[in-house]
Amino acid sequence: MNYRGRFAPSPTGHLHFGSLVAAVGSWLCARHAGGEWLLRVEDIDPPREMPGSAESILAALPAFGLVVDAPPLFQSRRIAAYDVAFEQLKAADLVFPCWCSRNDLAGGLHLDGQCLAPPAEGRAPAWRLRVPDIELTFDDVLQGPQTQNLRLAAGDFVIRRVEGYYAYQLACVVDDAFQGITQVVRGNDLLDSTARQIFLQRCLGLPTPGYLHLPLALDGEGRKLSKSERAHPVDPTDPLPSLRRALEFLDLPASPLARDPANLLAHALSYFRPERLPHCSERAAA
Ligand code: GLU
Repeated sequence: MNYRGRFAPSPTGHLHFGSLVAAVGSWLCARHAGGEWLLRVEDIDPPREMPGSAESILAALPAFGLVVDAPPLFQSRRIAAYDVAFEQLKAADLVFPCWCSRNDLAGGLHLDGQCLAPPAEGRAPAWRLRVPDIELTFDDVLQGPQTQNLRLAAGDFVIRRVEGYYAYQLACVVDDAFQGITQVVRGNDLLDSTARQIFLQRCLGLPTPGYLHLPLALDGEGRKLSKSERAHPVDPTDPLPSLRRALEFLDLPASPLARDPANLLAHALSYFRPERLPHCSERAAA
C-alpha cells in the first residue's frame, strides 16, 4: 500500500511551534516514504474555534515549504459521514444515551455501559461508547509498545456531545479511513487517544493505520506549547528561523546555507530516517 500521511490541525489559533513540528514531522515521514501528504481541518468544535484560524493555517503551510497533495478536507463538511458511523454503532448496540452531568461523574461514578441518571425530559443526551474491560496494545514507531486498559483510562467515552457535536475521536477515525491514511504522525499529547481510536476502528470495521508520536514541545515552564503559543509564535512572513528550530527540535540538520524553506526541508529530508527521530515523549522547545 502506498504511504499516506496527514496533518490535522484544529483551527483554534494560528500555527504555533508545536503544530509546526507536527506538520514538519508528518511531511518528512510522507516524503521519505515517497508517499502523499494530506491536510484535514478539524473544525467540528465551534466553541473552541477562532475565526480566521483555518485560513491562517492553510496560508502558512506553503510559506514553510509544506505543500499538500490534495485539497484540504474540512470536517465541518463531513457530518453526514459521522452520522452514518454513529448509526452503525447504534444499530450494533455499542452506544448508549447518557444524561449524567459532569458533577455526577466527577465524584468517581463508574458507568458500566449504561447511564446512571434518569433520562431528562426534553434535554438531549450525550452518547457514549460501551467500553469493555480490555487491555489494548499497539506499537508506536517512536514511543515503542503501548498498553492501555481502556476502561480504566477512558471509560465509556463520549462520541457525540450533548450539543450534538461529534467528538474528535469519532471524526478522527472516520476521516483517517476516508482519506486512506496509512500512518498517523502527530504530537505525543495524542498518544493517550490512540487506544480509543483503535478500539473505535474495530467497532466500525475500519483499518488501523500505523502511529508515530513525536515528542511534545514544552515551554520553559514545562507546559504544552499551545497553551502559551504567544511565547513561541511562528511567522510565515519570515519562515526560516522557526523552520530551523522545528528541524533542530526533531534532531535534524538545519542548514545555515539554505535560502528558502523548500531548500531547507530538502536538505533535512536527505538525512531523515523516521527511526532516528527523538524517542523521548517531550522536550523543551529552544
Ligand atoms: N486536531 C488535533 C490537534 O490539533 C490533532 C488530531 C490528530 O492529529 O489526530 O491537536
